[in-house]
Amino acid sequence: MDGAPEGGPVARWALALHGGAGTISRSVPLDRREEYLKGLRTALDTGVSILAQGGTALDAVEAVVRTLEDDPLFNAGRGAVFTHDETVELDASIMDGRTLACGAVCGVKTVKNPISLARLVMEKTSHVLLSGAGAEQFAAVVGVERCENSYFYTEHRHRALQQAKATDQVQLDHSGLTTVDSKISPAQLAGTSAGGVSPTADSAGAGAGSDEAAHVKGTVGCVALDAQGNLAVATSTGGMTNKRWGRVGDSPIIGAGSYANNKSCAVSSTGAGEEFIRHVVAHDIAALMEYGGHSVAQAADLVVHTKLAKGDGGVIAVSKDGEVAMPYNSVGMFRAAADSNGLHTVKIWE
Ligand code: ASP
Repeated sequence: MDGAPEGGPVARWALALHGGAGTISRSVPLDRREEYLKGLRTALDTGVSILAQGGTALDAVEAVVRTLEDDPLFNAGRGAVFTHDETVELDASIMDGRTLACGAVCGVKTVKNPISLARLVMEKTSHVLLSGAGAEQFAAVVGVERCENSYFYTEHRHRALQQAKATDQVQLDHSGLTTVDSKISPAQLAGTSAGGVSPTADSAGAGAGSDEAAHVKGTVGCVALDAQGNLAVATSTGGMTNKRWGRVGDSPIIGAGSYANNKSCAVSSTGAGEEFIRHVVAHDIAALMEYGGHSVAQAADLVVHTKLAKGDGGVIAVSKDGEVAMPYNSVGMFRAAADSNGLHTVKIWE
């Protein structure tokens, strides 16, 4: 099935995905670089095979993000970063551009694939965003696959947390350590820790003592246009290393981390979540197209390069016509794209 009437023109499909944007050093060892590229290629193949057989954009973006959530290299699902309390708290969102239906979860700790729970929020409830314990209760009701929080333990992420804690800083996975708690005195901060997960295994394979933590980047996302002309987006993340107080970034926020509308485009963001929320990045790009007549490349470039600050991150976007844009203002962005016209690309830098 190619999604086109027999003898008629082949309906166009397109897909783009990201595995995080940031200060991705070109000195990352070649074999490690190859592992990231392999993870991106596997995810791309997953989405392409669904769309090329006439599958829906919604099924494609969920399947791609599940693949990336299961890969310990990326900051989502299995490979998520640690909170200050040494737990893992996951955020995800999904949106259907055909109906504007959307679903999201934040702060979940026992759901193996948060993106599938987000989809069930969209399909089985009248709500958009479920958080923490309530989202876990919903997970039990709908029967998605659960796991111990220790399933998400990876040695390289734990090491990154210790580095961040040593200087009382947080780390967006795409950047260096930063101090964000300057308005909170050390005395106020004292005694706020709680117990965390215990190590099981490090299937990510980062060698102890390596500076792997400085290289691994995070948040994953996928946007797609299917042969029926429908757009969809999915985004999933572990957030930032050493986050506390239930911090939630842009990834589960519709309009900031994810947005899809058949009238314009589908967008998934990655980077400094607070900035993406302030600038309502994903919806802003869609609005520039819908109201301003911009192309997807113009709209995405405008927002990423003039509204956001250098180093904040990037987006992947696909328009209702199947045009793909993947601008970023950081050093690099793990990304890949393919379409029915032969586009096939997997990249980290320019
Ligand atoms: N945007 C994500 C967050 O702020 C992090 C990232 O994309 O690296 O939670």
